[in-house]
Amino acid sequence: MPRSTVARVDLEALRHNFRLAQSRAGGARAMAVVKADGYGHGIVNVARALASEVEKFAVACIEEALAIRSAGLEQPVVLLQGVHTPDDLRDCVQRGFEPVMHCHGQLDWLAAGPNPRFWLKVNSGMNRLGFRPEELDSVVAALGPSATTGPLLGFVTHFACADDLTSDMTDHQTRLFENATAAWPALMRSVGNSAAHFRPGQPLYDWSRPGIMLYGASPMIGKTGPELGLQPVMTLEAPLISTRVVRAGESVGYGASWVAQEDTRMGMVAIGYGDGYPRHAGTGTPAAIRGKRVRLLGRVSMDMLAVDLTGAPEALEGDPVELWGTTVSVDEVASCAGTIGYELLTGVTARVPRVCE
Ligand SMILES: *Cc1c(COP(=O)(O)O)cnc(C)c1O
Repeated sequence: MPRSTVARVDLEALRHNFRLAQSRAGGARAMAVVKADGYGHGIVNVARALASEVEKFAVACIEEALAIRSAGLEQPVVLLQGVHTPDDLRDCVQRGFEPVMHCHGQLDWLAAGPNPRFWLKVNSGMNRLGFRPEELDSVVAALGPSATTGPLLGFVTHFACADDLTSDMTDHQTRLFENATAAWPALMRSVGNSAAHFRPGQPLYDWSRPGIMLYGASPMIGKTGPELGLQPVMTLEAPLISTRVVRAGESVGYGASWVAQEDTRMGMVAIGYGDGYPRHAGTGTPAAIRGKRVRLLGRVSMDMLAVDLTGAPEALEGDPVELWGTTVSVDEVASCAGTIGYELLTGVTARVPRVCE
């Protein structure tokens, strides 16, 4: 028998969240971002579950797009980082991938080789990838007159601060992008990570690109996914494999970092940082047993962690423990570990089976 440490994936919740993204996209259509193995949920699981309602998928790199094709799905797949070699362009043409070209080197490959349908990335202020707004005229002109009536689908930009409603950066980026692309009204425009769907009045143009919100975790500073109307998709669960009473004055785990003030019933859970549970989650991080919240004690080990059973006196060895899911949001655990839900979801390791329900 394998240990019962699993990541349960609720596909109905995923579809609910996609519909919420679509309903918050204004006139835009939402492409589903399924990079990083579907944010840790299994790219094939996620793409298949959304296939009947999603018109386009988006991934970071071509291997991920090939995984969607090998699952038998035929929607166009946007490659958010473009292509990494000139040979990839042939795959793009043959398989209907739409690379987002972000630099002159990629455009040189395009000039010399096969032309898939593609997007141009505009750097409106993120300063990771893309052409500057003032460069766009000359970049498009250099593609030649046939580009704007065929292979060039349109323009993409990405927001740096859409998660922060007090920042004016997104308005600034939106204005720059809109002005830079105004000369080509027949081409499409794509902006909008998940956070942009929660910004009142934010234009999302033709295609928005929700990622994290599809999985039920929050894209917004200071809010959990459920507070935004999202349903958690992953429940990370592991069995309680041992219980004991730690006496007042005794410690638990590596570094003896937590010391009992009074006799405390505690339990060991079969999950640790080797499964992707964050080692930086300290004493007090929430988990749940039988729907009741309990707290972590001491340091997370590679294969185990300790919980205080005071809050769940009826807990028994063999009980499943929820590390995050419907009772404890992944956003809460992330904030206890000094990170974001994105990192926790994508960090669940291959040792943990994904079980779709
Ligand atoms: C990852 C990514 C997204 C999705 O972002 P979320 O914050 O997960 O919604 C959208 N656009 C680009 C370019 C990305 O890299």
